[in-house]
Amino acid sequence: MKELSLYIHVPFCKSKCNYCNFYSIPLTKLKNTYNSNLMKFYWELLIKEIEINIKKYHLENARIKSIYFGGGTPSAMPIDFFNGLIGFIGENFQIAGDAEITTEVNPESCDLEKLYGLKALGFNRLSIGAQSFDGGVLKTAGRIHNKNDIYLAVNNAKKAGFSNISLDLIIGLPGQTKNIFLDDINHILDIAPEHISAYMLSIEEGSLFYKINNDKNCFPIYKSPEFISEEKIADYYIILCEVLRVQSYEHYEISNFAKKGYQSRHNINYWNRGEYLGLGPSASSFLKLEGGKEIRKTNVPDLEKYIRNISKDNCEEKNCRIKKRNSGQNKNDGDFAEILTENDKINEEIFLPLRTFHGINEKKLRELAGSEIIDRFIKEGLMQNFKGNISLTLRGMLVSSEIFAHIMV
Ligand code: SF4
Repeated sequence: MKELSLYIHVPFCKSKCNYCNFYSIPLTKLKNTYNSNLMKFYWELLIKEIEINIKKYHLENARIKSIYFGGGTPSAMPIDFFNGLIGFIGENFQIAGDAEITTEVNPESCDLEKLYGLKALGFNRLSIGAQSFDGGVLKTAGRIHNKNDIYLAVNNAKKAGFSNISLDLIIGLPGQTKNIFLDDINHILDIAPEHISAYMLSIEEGSLFYKINNDKNCFPIYKSPEFISEEKIADYYIILCEVLRVQSYEHYEISNFAKKGYQSRHNINYWNRGEYLGLGPSASSFLKLEGGKEIRKTNVPDLEKYIRNISKDNCEEKNCRIKKRNSGQNKNDGDFAEILTENDKINEEIFLPLRTFHGINEKKLRELAGSEIIDRFIKEGLMQNFKGNISLTLRGMLVSSEIFAHIMV
């Protein structure tokens, strides 16, 4: 029986955060009735997309081992949205008894009633977008919550019966001095969530920070934020990793930490090259087809084009251009799909496990990437071997992209 994870993208946010380049539409922009109704009936589009994919990829009997609602801001949606979808998924797939069912929530939009509703629907994990606890840092980042909202969200989650809570933290937001960052860590330790995701800020194209950083005159009325140097961000990351290690969190992936038994099964599925179906605009999927072919596909990151594709029953292959990675073409103009080559598969077999604490079997890595480069990284203190496996050291994790680029075949 095929095992599958589901990712459901909710492309709506109350407002746009200044560092964000995920595909999401600020609700303030959903002015006309068409768009407001769309938000209400978005789940019907997702259901149609599930039906299309079941037929196309023969997923009828798939067993769902994890479901993840991400965004965007899933918690901006009414409980009926989750109800409709979970009900449909349950009727059309077999949801494993121990399935991990997560939704991302933002601190300002997860009231107690909604959390009770989610729990009753079978959600057993929450990922709360804290990012920082400092009012000034949050404001500069464009977040609309404050420290008290985070504490309230966590307390409400516990009251509603959630015992698996993850907090998201961003390392290196503008204005996050070392003292502020240490204070953020203290708040995290005070809350002691079961799981922590901590991402180093990178200024991504498509975000407001990117525009400001690349053209200081672009927003003359906007007080330019104090961006933090990469060196400082690296220092903060190392401090966090060390503090969390002392507090017995397992550093099980470059940006993820968990108390024993609370690693995110949904994330682990990605790194193990398990299959997943992504639904909604900009969502990605990885599916293994009959005959050994493997496909990675990403829906168009544009709600209107997505609706057009779904209503015409016209997803990816028929509509997309099959593109090579890094082709430089604009992904915005249609769905994106590629059949992986043998080299693509080998590369994924190297860099996905190398992201994790356990790393990859040493013999296999030497065969795939060559011993010379591995010995060099070990000598430079970027890789380590332990019990027959090679993994990245903390310093190696900081430059993981460069390392992967060197060992790709
Ligand atoms: S960071 Fe999250 S809440 Fe902020 S705009 Fe992006 S998706 Fe929305």
